[in-house]
Amino acid sequence: MDPRISRIDLKTALRSVADLAAPRLCLSCGRKLLIYERHLCIPCRADIPFTHYASRTRNPMADIYNALIEADRYQYAAALFFFRSDSDSVDSEAEDYSGEADYTAITKALKYHANFGAGRYFADMLGSELARALHFADVDLVTCVPLHPLRRYRRGYNQAEIIARRVALALGARFDGRLLRRVRRTRSQASLAPAAKAANVSGAFSARPASGSVRHLLIVDDVFTTGNTLAACTVAARTVLPPSCRISVATLAFVENNY
Ligand SMILES: [Zn+2]
Repeated sequence: MDPRISRIDLKTALRSVADLAAPRLCLSCGRKLLIYERHLCIPCRADIPFTHYASRTRNPMADIYNALIEADRYQYAAALFFFRSDSDSVDSEAEDYSGEADYTAITKALKYHANFGAGRYFADMLGSELARALHFADVDLVTCVPLHPLRRYRRGYNQAEIIARRVALALGARFDGRLLRRVRRTRSQASLAPAAKAANVSGAFSARPASGSVRHLLIVDDVFTTGNTLAACTVAARTVLPPSCRISVATLAFVENNY
């Protein structure tokens, strides 16, 4: 027998035993996953509200980002999917849903529940979308929005770094997780009014020189809400990069209508 087939069979068998012990649930709707489903059930996987922003140099996320960084030329920004939580995305004919589709659970699973498997799975999706886009093809360095060292220590990992490493792999670019540093602790952006969000992260980051030459830097985070955090990171990165270096941003999710 082909040894690859037996390995796959063994993996499937182990997963089915594990499923009996502790059923894996769809991150979005909470329904029990079938043996070949990963992280999302088939209907939720089919309904992911993809932005397709990676294929468009100009898009609403890039417009917000460019307005914040006031760059001389238009910079690129892309997210994999929209944050939407609405029952309309669930087919009413499907009777077996235990809950409504909620894609915010994808980034929460990585950020709060250390679900690295899900983080890497969706990061790979983002990576392959970016790799297909010509304007991201020359990205040669990828970094992530850093956590404050104290928060990083308490959480044990940086969710943005997990995504960024996979994106770098997909793009064939170098990864440098220490290009940016959070020099000031900031309050959670979620609790602040829009005007306070910009002030909260302004000047919160510093950068150290990148090793080797960089033509196109990509800064990765999990979620793009107001864009203030990524804009503050861009301002910091700009201080250590030549003016000709392009700085783009990418996230798993883009929050619509958030301001
Ligand atoms: Zn589902």
